[in-house]
Amino acid sequence: MKAVIIGAGMGGMSAAIALAQIGVETHVYERVTENKPVGAAISVWSNGVKCLNYLGLAEETAALGGIVETMSYVDGHTGATMCRFSMQPLIDQVGQRPYPIARAELQSMLMAHYGMDKIHFGMKMVAVEDGPDAAVATFADGTTVSADVIIGADGANSITREYVLGGPVTRRYAGYVNVNGLVPVDDGIGPATEWTTYVADGQRVSVMPVAGGRFYFFFDIVGDPTGIVGGDVKETLRHHFDGWAPGVHRLIEILDPATTNRVEILDLDPFDTWVKGRVAVLGDAAHNTTPDIGQGGCSAMEDAVALQWALRDHPGDVHAALLSYQNARSERAGDLVLRARRRCDVTHAKDPDVTADWYGELRKEDGSNIIRGIVGNILGGPLTPP
Ligand SMILES: Cc1cc2nc3c(=O)[nH]c(=O)nc-3n(C[C@H](O)[C@H](O)[C@H](O)COP(=O)(O)OP(=O)(O)OC[C@H]3O[C@@H](n4cnc5c(N)ncnc54)[C@H](O)[C@@H]3O)c2cc1C
Repeated sequence: MKAVIIGAGMGGMSAAIALAQIGVETHVYERVTENKPVGAAISVWSNGVKCLNYLGLAEETAALGGIVETMSYVDGHTGATMCRFSMQPLIDQVGQRPYPIARAELQSMLMAHYGMDKIHFGMKMVAVEDGPDAAVATFADGTTVSADVIIGADGANSITREYVLGGPVTRRYAGYVNVNGLVPVDDGIGPATEWTTYVADGQRVSVMPVAGGRFYFFFDIVGDPTGIVGGDVKETLRHHFDGWAPGVHRLIEILDPATTNRVEILDLDPFDTWVKGRVAVLGDAAHNTTPDIGQGGCSAMEDAVALQWALRDHPGDVHAALLSYQNARSERAGDLVLRARRRCDVTHAKDPDVTADWYGELRKEDGSNIIRGIVGNILGGPLTPP
């Protein structure tokens, strides 16, 4: 059994490790020439961590993860704490601590575990095609590779998805630009073991710890992206967060523009067809979500485990295995996309009255409603059945 995986992001690498675990001959092809992920960090929620543990990376993941003991919401204007609560009830309910992890380190961990020398860098796939006995991928340099299965983990602008669906799709701008990076932990912004989120005017500023005494930070700026994406990032942030609390301005002061990313947030309506014969999509190629519940990457890791189980359970029948993978994943992943979209709308003042009500709820929150919501996102994957 030979599998070709297109894309060495967190989805493709998780899939490569998962398939290698059951003895599948795997080959990973990645268009970039080196490991340079866009974005600073991600929160790997407990469902994602369980997948990484399952892939044999429990110790490495824990070593890279930030420790979040508490979560808080802070009034973005006044700096007053709206609510603060322990993460422990969440950990108790789902049986695993979540870990915010720097992206480059997560990526390096996955690549090192799989074997860096087994990844074909600088190989851009330009076409993929199913066939009766094998699927074939064609690369920009004119070479081709055939395999029993081809897994398109080629991200949000996936060519594989276009092939599987029979045409291109249009992604939707979710209404905000996310500005993110890493800074040293700074208690002028938030406590070292807290996920602190400032909210006001339908915008967010957030810091959470990753390993090595650093905060992963992000700002959400609502509006037309054209005025936000270019120019001096500190000026842009000062303008959009004028009058915000001192902690927010401290963050703007200490961030390094050279390592700060600006990402227009888009998503895609869920779809159920993930497979065409021997070709399947995985990760953002299959479910491109806003990051509002921090589940896009976790969902990609869940895909990887589900794909392993589907191939394990249908030996010698690739077609049945891929359909079983699709059936196991499409509803769950689509549900997470829609959950994120709903949260995105509330957080970013799609209807300002709804957002004002949410701020009111945050002021009365003891943590239980928020934790219930997060647990609802975490449960439902292959390793966290409801
Ligand atoms: C601002 C932001 C914050 C986020 N925060 C979180 C979070 O907290 N938690 C979470 O779980 N998720 C989060 N996500 C989502 C997460 O980043 C994605 O879901 C995840 O990166 C998807 O992984 P992937 O491997 O499917 O795709 P990608 O990471 O996009 O990887 C795709 C890979 O395929 C390669 N590729 C593409 N086309 C080709 C081709 N034609 N040929 C060869 N190679 C190709 C690309 O170069 C890339 O390396 C966030 C996303 C954003 C934008």
